[in-house]
Order: sequence, then C-alpha cells, then structure tokens
Amino acid sequence: MLVVMRDHASAEDIQHVVDLLQEAGAEAHLSRGEVKTIIGVIGDREVIYTLDFEGLPGVERVVRVLKPFKLVSRDFQREDTVITVGGSSIGGGAFAVIAGPCSIESEEQMMATAHAVKAAGATMLRGGAYKPRSSPYAFQGMGVEGLKLLRAAGDAVGLPVVTEVLDVRDAETVAGYADILQVGARNMQNFMMLDELGTMDRPVLLKRGLSATIEELLSAAEYVLKGGNRDVILCERGIRTFETYTRNTLDLGAVSALKWLTHLPVIADPSHASGRRDLVAPMSRASVAAGADGLMIEVHPEPERARCDGPQSLTPADFSALMADLGPRIALEDKWLGAGE
Ligand code: PEP
Ligand code: MN
Repeated sequence: MLVVMRDHASAEDIQHVVDLLQEAGAEAHLSRGEVKTIIGVIGDREVIYTLDFEGLPGVERVVRVLKPFKLVSRDFQREDTVITVGGSSIGGGAFAVIAGPCSIESEEQMMATAHAVKAAGATMLRGGAYKPRSSPYAFQGMGVEGLKLLRAAGDAVGLPVVTEVLDVRDAETVAGYADILQVGARNMQNFMMLDELGTMDRPVLLKRGLSATIEELLSAAEYVLKGGNRDVILCERGIRTFETYTRNTLDLGAVSALKWLTHLPVIADPSHASGRRDLVAPMSRASVAAGADGLMIEVHPEPERARCDGPQSLTPADFSALMADLGPRIALEDKWLGAGE
C-alpha cells in the first residue's frame, strides 16, 4: 500500500501516519519529492488493508498496490534515482559507461585497461575477481589479490570500480575494495545475498537472471530496497531464448519497460547479451535509443589472450571508436556522460 500525502504536507501529518503504521506493526518507507511525500507501507497484507488512512490530515489518497514490488516502483517515487560514486553518476540524465575486462588477470592488464577506458570516456571501471564460470574447471578468478589490483587501477585513473560479489560470505571483503557491488545473473534470486546487500552502504548493480521475468527482476531489487539500501542499478544482460547464434538475446523491450516501471537506473550489457564483439557496437547504440541509463562493456587490451570472454571483449581501439560514436547519441537522448571532474 502507498499513502500519498498532499502537496507540501506538514512534517507532523507525515509523522502521524508513520506512527500509526508502526503501531500496527507495519514498516513505513518514505519517498520525499520536492512537493510530495509518498509513504510505502510494508507488512502483513491482512493487517495493512484494515488500516484506514483516507481522510487523515495531510493524506491525499491511499493506493493499494497489487504488484509484488513497491519501493522500486514509479508509483512510490516519481523522480529518477540518481546514484553517485567517486564523482561519477548514473540515473536522472547521467549516463554511465562501465568498462573493463571480464576477469582481473594481472596488474599490467588492469592498468592498461584502466588508462585506455578512462581516456576513451568511460565513467566506471569493471573487472571480476570471483568468476561464476559454467564449468568448475574454468578459471575462477584471482580473489582478494584481484580486488586489490582493480582498486589500484581505478584509483590510478580516478574511476570508481564495480565488481561482483559471488558469495554472501565475501560481501564485506568485496565492499572493502569496490564502490559498487555487482550481483551476477546467476545470483539474481539469491535472496539471502540480496537481504545482506540491503543492509550495506554500497550501491548494488543487479543483473537480470538468465530466465528471469521483468517482474522477478524488480522483486529481487525490492529485497535490497526493503533492507534500507535505496541504491540499485538494474542491468539487462540478455536472456535465454531458443536462439543460439548469439550467446543470449538482448531484451531491449525490457529496458524501455523498466524505465516506466521503476525509478531505478537501468543499464544494458551488450557484451554478455550477444557474446560477440561485432554486435557490441550496434547493440550499444540500440540500448541508448531504448532509454538505457548506461552500458556495461567488456574491454581487454588483448582479447585473444583473455582468460574469460575474449570473443565478446572489445580492444581499447574499438572501445574508443564506439565511445566517439555514442557521445552525440547519448546527448540526443537528453543525457550526459556522468563522469566526474
Ligand atoms: C559479469 O558481468 O562479469 C558476468 C559474469 O555477467 P553475468 O552475471 O551477467 O553473466
Ligand atoms: Mn564476462
């Protein structure tokens, strides 16, 4: 349920509603816009629906929400959520380009990539230290040593860093090095992990599960927001379909639909969606046109030597050409590259 307060409702009126909710055992989550405050109510449906707030001072209307997600919804918060880390922003017109290798492999590889993507205009650096590989025999990542290399490379060029938390037991460790915590597609419905990240003070980049619906993705994000962490970025990274020519199928309709359904920033990952270097540029352009707030793009100084996802990684030169091409398109969508400085 949402309690929509009148424009410029007084602090006392808002507090009165919050007090009544808490007395009834419900949680009140406030969304304070410039003129309007909306109170998201979470708790036992049976109890909530017996509460009658219509007519209370300052209350405009009460909306019963039938969807399984509330706090992530545009009904709860009309304005776009803007997330700023280390001087780079995403959402509300700020466009993020998160670039870097699939996996962190060495200091030279990370430093070379960091300098190249920064020079080309990327706003954040990525790299995986814990790799969720389909085969248990494939390279599993460098772990904490990798996190240190990622942090050092990000600091060297002044870019915030994004990396995946593969296991809830590593969340605190990863948060010690990363600005944004990524939840991989295979962990999208790891609800214990989402609960934990909800209590942490790091933004979460939540990737859509391989076979997850839009509603399941939003419900997964709701877990994080319910825990108190309002900073979640959603990522469309391709879904499983009958098509095998591409690694996955980039669901661009989901990007546009998510922009209507939620106030959270939405990005696309054409690298994992297509699995093919030659499709990364056209799918990046399409993602910008679909309204994405950012892109995640794999870049490797020597893709043919990459330990993971080489076939979909761009060379620094390809990435630089793509960024030059994307600049005016991003501006056409009334967005600006959300880089700091
Ligand atoms: C990644 O971004 O490194 C990754 C493993 O992606 P996904 O979880 O989308 O497969
Ligand atoms: Mn990868």
